[in-house]
Amino acid sequence: MNITINNLEVWANPGETILEVAEREGIRIPTLCYLKGFSPTGACRMCMVEIQNEGRLMPSCAFPVYDGMIVQTNSPNVRRARKTIIELLIANHPQDCLVCIRNGNCSLQTLAAEYGVRSYRYVGQRRKGKLDLASPSIERDPEKCILCGRCVRICHEMQHVGAIDLVNRGFNSTVSPAMDRSLNTVACVYCGQCIVNCPVGALREKSDQKRVWEAINNTDKLVVAQIAPAVRVSIGEEFGLEPGEIVTGKIVAALRRMGIDTVFDTNFAADLTIMEEAHELIERITHHKTLPMITSCSPGWVKYLEHFYPDLLDHLSTCKSPHEMEGAVIKSYYARKMGVNPEKIFVVSIMPCIAKKFEAQRPELGNDFQDVDAVITTRELARMIRIAGLDFERLPNEAFDDPLGESTGAGAIFGVAGGVMEAALRTAHAMLTGKDMPMIEFSPIRGLQGVKEASVDIQGIKLKIAAVSGLKNIDILLQDIQKGTSEYHFIEVMACPNGCINGGGQPIPSSPEKIKKRTEAIYKIDQGLAKRCSHHNQSIQKLYKEFLEKPGSHTAHELLHTHYTKRNRY
Ligand code: SF4
Ligand code: SF4
Ligand code: SF4
Repeated sequence: MNITINNLEVWANPGETILEVAEREGIRIPTLCYLKGFSPTGACRMCMVEIQNEGRLMPSCAFPVYDGMIVQTNSPNVRRARKTIIELLIANHPQDCLVCIRNGNCSLQTLAAEYGVRSYRYVGQRRKGKLDLASPSIERDPEKCILCGRCVRICHEMQHVGAIDLVNRGFNSTVSPAMDRSLNTVACVYCGQCIVNCPVGALREKSDQKRVWEAINNTDKLVVAQIAPAVRVSIGEEFGLEPGEIVTGKIVAALRRMGIDTVFDTNFAADLTIMEEAHELIERITHHKTLPMITSCSPGWVKYLEHFYPDLLDHLSTCKSPHEMEGAVIKSYYARKMGVNPEKIFVVSIMPCIAKKFEAQRPELGNDFQDVDAVITTRELARMIRIAGLDFERLPNEAFDDPLGESTGAGAIFGVAGGVMEAALRTAHAMLTGKDMPMIEFSPIRGLQGVKEASVDIQGIKLKIAAVSGLKNIDILLQDIQKGTSEYHFIEVMACPNGCINGGGQPIPSSPEKIKKRTEAIYKIDQGLAKRCSHHNQSIQKLYKEFLEKPGSHTAHELLHTHYTKRNRY
């Protein structure tokens, strides 16, 4: 069908919305509540356009096109309506941009500037709400919420959690967990996808910056930092670099200049996780133990299973997540090597994830002391680098410290969905056959789909595997396990769609293009390394020889494995 937008005739498909057609034609319509791929709500009315042949204004995100429709996206009526909507939103808003986490990166602030809002035209009573600061990962400020409902759709439609909802009516409307409870008392899995999709500063991570600065300034502490695989391909965006720019060496240099004593690589522990996980998989298969085995390195996913499918906890790999393994090895093997009291070591993990903040506090992940003392996100590290006055682009590329800084391509690909599975297959193959896989890259589980399945034959063992990301995608597979009809031996699950490169602690805003570029960069790191299998990591081999003995040993179990807990659903 043909429609006219801004006096230009364009084609459109039946069922498309005006917003979709305009986007395709390169006409930008401002939005706040719109989320591509999710049910449109038309809640904010920011995307108002004029249907000229009908003489009325309608929200373009929810209004389908019809043949002969005449649309104006920039008429005086449209501009006036949009400006009034912004003014009304601001009238019910704290107006404290200067002290807001999203100052300079807020859609409401940007639109107010674009539409020339220069005064507070409407003044009246404002909606009240209490700050929710109780969870270890997320803080909520309901007074900054503009009721766009994006977080609600993400939590329900993408994550199948439903920890929050739009509640009450009219002036009392708010987004909240049931009964106005705190997020830490409901089944929130702390994936943080609501934060990265919130257009304003109503949701934010619980910051650990202050504790990290205090540790740096405490001369009695040895501060050891570790960097997750996905941070090195995204933090550049915070400093104006292209998405997917690999800046590993600059992060190391920045951390040293901030006062961190030692900088290790979580990719090292990703290799260690693979040694333990591949061994566990082979044990489960050869001794007819619980299958499928499901990966346990995504703390949002682990918490989801604890709340919603506690009867399946035996399927979780007992391996701790890589940064927890790294913390445990730093406070045992490395502390002994250096002659340092482990209680004096402060381990800070730099992660793309906010669920890791919760994970680091779990009693299951430490003994006399926690394996990891603080977790800061990619966004928090960028803020700390700015506070330290460092010119990120001009920093040199520096290498990690020894011995927990060496890693292989297998460790690198933990940053993308399917990466843990691919890395585990590389080493499981070598453990079973004594030889490396003929094709190191395993393409069936690469790509940006939410569910990827494949079969692989290793030494006569036919393994059926799946890699899943985004929690809504796992339910069917879990229900098959409950019914006893699952054919899988091994499943990888990442709570965030496309894995850690799209984690809840990553730079805002994200986009499918940015995720693609971050993913490509992770695979580029793998391809560029001489060693691409975890079992070839010489520092890992030395760690087993000097300390852990062998994968699955008693010491390995004490330090690197754990069990999880049943939690209430409500
Ligand atoms: S949410 Fe945006 S508009 Fe509101 S205070 Fe924060 S920066 Fe300002
Ligand atoms: S918390 Fe953020 S995403 Fe959720 S409804 Fe409010 S403004 Fe929208
Ligand atoms: S962190 Fe995840 S589970 Fe919790 S409210 Fe946000 S989207 Fe829902």
